[in-house]
Amino acid sequence: SSSTTPITATLFPGDGIGPEIAESVKKVFTTAGVPINWEEHYVSTEIDPRTQSFLTWESLESVRRNKVGLKGPMATPIGKGHRSLNLTLRKELNLYANVRPCYSLPGYKTRYDDVNLITIRENTEGEYSGLEHQVVRGVVESLKIITRQASLRVAEYAFHYAKTHGRERVSAIHKANIMQKTDGLFLKCCREVAEKYPEITYEEVVIDNCCMMLVKNPALFDVLVMPNLYGDIISDLCAGLVGGLGLTPSCNIGEDGVALAEAVHGSAPDIAGKNLANPTALLLSGVMMLRHLKMNEQAEQIHSAIINTIAEGKYRTADLGGSSTTTEFTKAICDHL
Ligand code: NAD
Repeated sequence: SSSTTPITATLFPGDGIGPEIAESVKKVFTTAGVPINWEEHYVSTEIDPRTQSFLTWESLESVRRNKVGLKGPMATPIGKGHRSLNLTLRKELNLYANVRPCYSLPGYKTRYDDVNLITIRENTEGEYSGLEHQVVRGVVESLKIITRQASLRVAEYAFHYAKTHGRERVSAIHKANIMQKTDGLFLKCCREVAEKYPEITYEEVVIDNCCMMLVKNPALFDVLVMPNLYGDIISDLCAGLVGGLGLTPSCNIGEDGVALAEAVHGSAPDIAGKNLANPTALLLSGVMMLRHLKMNEQAEQIHSAIINTIAEGKYRTADLGGSSTTTEFTKAICDHL
């Protein structure tokens, strides 16, 4: 259904190629007549004492108020006394699940034609809890935290996602044979949730075997749910199956119904400011945001325009073997709308 009352959404253009690809999204959305008012927030050049990070308190409030937003990549400035920008967002907004759909784009040939899977990454704990210290000189320690609460929450999201999106199987990815306590608890929580969803097939796959299976035949997988670090790695592997980081979108799901969509890739400093970036990943993240807002008509329209532009092959950015600039590719998408 299409809605005509404008919705306010937060937009973080971000760093590096972020502002260039955010410009592309604004242009495509305006051309498609999407009724969204963007509330733009940039990463600050100073630390905000209220957030202890380069993200201002106002920018976080904007997401809390709007409950929906789109985020460009953010490069965390190196130095002490502040928190990583992405970690601040995840913690402050309670973004507990990162959903990364990965599917073959019709018209863009890779080694695989039939990839259609979703990785769901636990986003708040695990190896990324930020608890690292030196025990004695030459020995450091990093704590991997797994809690029942966060594991149940992400497992519940994965099964609910599978059920509401017509998916048949959920695979929990783990290394519980070695990480017996931590991954063991993660699996136990997945099993508990699986029992509530008898219509969804549940399986457990050891991460090393999962990597081998993904590269051999990605069609073996449907929905994958996993702890933080594994999710970070596996989702980039999956991006590689369908044509690279320029193409893969994601959406962070938070408590209180917050959804913050973002591309999987980073700020790509090597190509920033050169009008070379592929805006597809952020555009498709914007499409995920529209689906979340139930603006399905506009989502489909923009999605088709992107797919058709890439399939036509006349305008493609360098990462897809073409020679178009970000602006030329964006204009081609607008012409397809
Ligand atoms: P990256 O994803 O920025 O770049 C990896 C490679 O992919 C580069 O060669 C880059 O040019 C290419 N690439 C990425 N996105 C592209 C696009 N849209 N179009 C064309 N090519 C693209 O990874 P990195 O170099 O490891 O990280 C750079 C910075 O980004 C770091 O500061 C890192 O912390 C940050 N980062 C942020 C996020 C985020 O905000 N979610 C995610 C990953 C990395």
